[in-house]
Amino acid sequence: MNDAGKTKWKKLHMHIDIKQTLTYPDKKLKQMFKGEPRDIRDFLVAELRKGFDYLPFGECGNRGPDGMCAGHEVEEKETEVKP
Ligand SMILES: [Zn+2]
Repeated sequence: MNDAGKTKWKKLHMHIDIKQTLTYPDKKLKQMFKGEPRDIRDFLVAELRKGFDYLPFGECGNRGPDGMCAGHEVEEKETEVKP
């Protein structure tokens, strides 16, 4: 039997394709984001101008050059069970 040790997980944020999202109707944008569709479009265009093609959902502190989530290593804590 092997001692596997700690399990390492890689967490990835889901992402959207910004150019594709800009083609969606206002109604759909409102379902995806908070705020007014005009502001949402401005925000998405600003992201494109930064050179990003993708936008991750949630707070992502590790975006790759294309804007996609580059992954986060999560170390699972070992749980001690005492009687
Ligand atoms: Zn991320």
